[in-house]
Amino acid sequence: VNNPGSTTARALVVPRNGDSSVLEVRDVEVSPPGDGEVQVEVAAVGVNFIDVYQRQGVYAVPTPFVSCSEGAGTVTAVGPGVEGVRVGDRVAWGQGLGAAGAVVTREADSLVPVPDGVDLDVAAAAMLQGMTAHYLVNSTYVVGEGTVALVHAAAGGVGQLLVQMVKAKGGRVIATAGSADKLEIARALGADALIDYSRADDLASEVRAANGGKGVDVAYDGVGKATFDASLASLRPRGMMVLFGGSSGQVPPLDLQRLNSGGSLFVTRPTLGHYTATREEMLERGTAVLEDIAAGRLHIDIGGRYPLEDAARAYDDLEGRRTTGKLLLVP
Ligand code: NDP
Repeated sequence: VNNPGSTTARALVVPRNGDSSVLEVRDVEVSPPGDGEVQVEVAAVGVNFIDVYQRQGVYAVPTPFVSCSEGAGTVTAVGPGVEGVRVGDRVAWGQGLGAAGAVVTREADSLVPVPDGVDLDVAAAAMLQGMTAHYLVNSTYVVGEGTVALVHAAAGGVGQLLVQMVKAKGGRVIATAGSADKLEIARALGADALIDYSRADDLASEVRAANGGKGVDVAYDGVGKATFDASLASLRPRGMMVLFGGSSGQVPPLDLQRLNSGGSLFVTRPTLGHYTATREEMLERGTAVLEDIAAGRLHIDIGGRYPLEDAARAYDDLEGRRTTGKLLLVP
């Protein structure tokens, strides 16, 4: 402990890039909140693919660093210049490295107030994936009455939220997943057609067959490498390919002529930061998600809770396709 007033707290540290075996729980120094910052006692931390990409070095972050971007907790101290946040407030956030600690210091501007009736663990589970699903259906492609959307990995974290949000806007969902049990989760959330893509010989033909022989309006694809070609081939003329992740691996370079032959298609590769670039936009999306949960319009499925010491197991489960819904770490 070097700084006056600083404390130590347990945290999940990535000491060097690698697989989940590099993860360590250590005591780290937590400085008192500076200008515009608050200190938070963390109730739960969200497990996300971005943590994997950062740990592996796919997204470059200088090591060592405290892992994770998403969490929720109770404010314990407020730095100078912070307005609208007080000690005792319940808050959640979805972005900004260093979330996986028992006590963390955050930018006050990254926080969303958690409404009464929403538990802190549910809020932690909802922020990153919730704001992602929110921008994908409201801003990347504007889903409306009758929109037909292909949603891959529909029993996953983002997938379950996409199914619910497309249905809530009057759309139709063609859901894929890797097992019958996972498809059942998508069906229970309202998906209209179900495809086990681990058994599909020609996925695009099955998608079209599920849509009366026509292509879909939009493909929401966070699986990437394994599904990209089928997603593109599933679109109607002028449909939109929304590649938002690569849980199966990154998609190789694309020959743009394929967009022509496919029917004047659109392709986008969006990311949350660009859809929450201002405090206002972030707050609007985060609040909309938490209010939908409070009102019972959005269901958050917490698929597993792991103590910080078991974080490697949580990531192995996520990367190994053994999970549904959202995983949490509990510091
Ligand atoms: P999920 O809960 O969806 O877990 C990943 C799922 O992908 C698995 O359960 C599995 O479902 C499916 N999958 C298919 N092939 C593979 C494979 N080879 N290896 C692992 N999984 C595979 O994760 P999240 O909801 O956390 O994230 C989903 C995607 O969204 C990720 O790619 C993530 O990076 C991305 N993302 C993007 C954001 C953005 O703004 N661009 C923000 C947040 C997330 P099944 O068994 O059914 O195939």
